[in-house]
Amino acid sequence: MEFEAVIGLETHVQLKTKSKMWCGCANAFGAPPNTNVCPVCLGLPGVLPVPNDEALRLTVLTGYLLNCEIPRFAKFDRKSYFYPDMPKNYQITQYDRPSTANGWVEFEFNGETTLKSPNGLPMVRITRAHLEEDVGKNVHFERNSGVDFNRAGVPLMEIVSEPDISSADMAYEYLNALKDILVYGGVSDCDMEKGMVRCDVNVSVRPKGSKELGAKIEIKNMNSFSGVRRALEYEIPRQIEMLKKGARLIQSTRRWDDDAGITDEMRTKEHAHDYRYFPDPDLMPQAPTDAWLAEVKARVVELPLARKQRFMKEYGLPATDAQTFVWDRPLGNYFEGMAKQSKNPKAAANWVINNLRAKLAEANESRAGVSPAQNSEEGQAERAALLYTLADLKFKPEAILELVGLVDAKTISSSAAQQVFAEMFDTGKSPMAIVQEKGLAQVSDTGAIEKFCDEAIAANPGPVADFKAGKAVALNFLKGQVMKLSKGKANPALAGEILERKLR
Ligand SMILES: [Zn+2]
Repeated sequence: MEFEAVIGLETHVQLKTKSKMWCGCANAFGAPPNTNVCPVCLGLPGVLPVPNDEALRLTVLTGYLLNCEIPRFAKFDRKSYFYPDMPKNYQITQYDRPSTANGWVEFEFNGETTLKSPNGLPMVRITRAHLEEDVGKNVHFERNSGVDFNRAGVPLMEIVSEPDISSADMAYEYLNALKDILVYGGVSDCDMEKGMVRCDVNVSVRPKGSKELGAKIEIKNMNSFSGVRRALEYEIPRQIEMLKKGARLIQSTRRWDDDAGITDEMRTKEHAHDYRYFPDPDLMPQAPTDAWLAEVKARVVELPLARKQRFMKEYGLPATDAQTFVWDRPLGNYFEGMAKQSKNPKAAANWVINNLRAKLAEANESRAGVSPAQNSEEGQAERAALLYTLADLKFKPEAILELVGLVDAKTISSSAAQQVFAEMFDTGKSPMAIVQEKGLAQVSDTGAIEKFCDEAIAANPGPVADFKAGKAVALNFLKGQVMKLSKGKANPALAGEILERKLR
């Protein structure tokens, strides 16, 4: 009997706000423990939460980016449970009336999928994206434990997918696509190293073709996408193996042990509804106005995948180049600024990706001697200020088009073009001015090339004899000599033709 996996993902994402969800404490990473705290996020008695408007906006913005419906009524609920990192003994979340619902995400994936987006791409449906608060962090020392509440009350969005995912690889691609969208939309920095994205994985298996769902196994709190993939690569065969042996799987929660490469059981769930949800009496329901929704909608950006496909279609770029411009958005914008007026956008993209990017990296490396404080907002700002960016370029984007034009018109050879580019990067001079100043224009005057060919033939009797004896490669050597004599300016194709004519 063949089995199939049914996977749904709950992805928790920290929102990019200045302050926390219910108080004015900073939403910042890396501060000393318990320095970004106040009575509200410490859950002291008698305090009142005040919702963070920007967090509400980012959640609804996510709804728009994920093709969701935005209900005109949403509310906050209390989810009751005890844990030392959550002093209120309940988490404020959205239970039955979330801020967004019923969307979908499309992505690129070569494996097997069943659902297709309206654009014909693999898709996963989104049940909802709702808003809640993060909890603190337990820290375990050698002989005791502590709690850091800096993260408590940080706005957290939970994006719940439908169980539309059928393999570890598909889960991985979905998560990456989701992350790209959230970063593009300015919803979250999605910095995995800082724990900004965490994932709960729900996975069950069933006989292929069956409509009934198997027992749901939850793997909690995964903090890397590759970890999710590895956990599923372990867990799916484990469940199939159990069923093949005739064992019965029961609904349970498991933990992924990344070092051992296995999942192990934490607890089994007897009842699904043990959180005693009820509406938070301290918080008003959310009823967004048309004007508020319009403001949020105005922040919708072109999605990464749409951008990639547009770059491929409009400028004839290969997928890898288009993807580079998706990941490096400023570089892509820089390219796009010039590409519209270019006759050969593909060549312009080559210069931007292969040469300009390398030169920028080089310039930044030479500035890398200074290393501002790591992991702090100020450190990040300092590092950013040190970067040599596109704004610092001495030449105008049109200069790249001019350079492409010179190569296309065969005015200069491609090796001379490299020299021109390096010079224009350093000095900001125009390509034509550099070509004239350095005498780099390609010689296509047959008379001049004939003279270089005669010289090369006279000076190299050995290779000439080789060529005449049938060794065709000897021609390349002679061609190289002609290029040398012409100081790299001879039109190489023409030099080859003339040499061959003379030798035959
Ligand atoms: Zn606070």
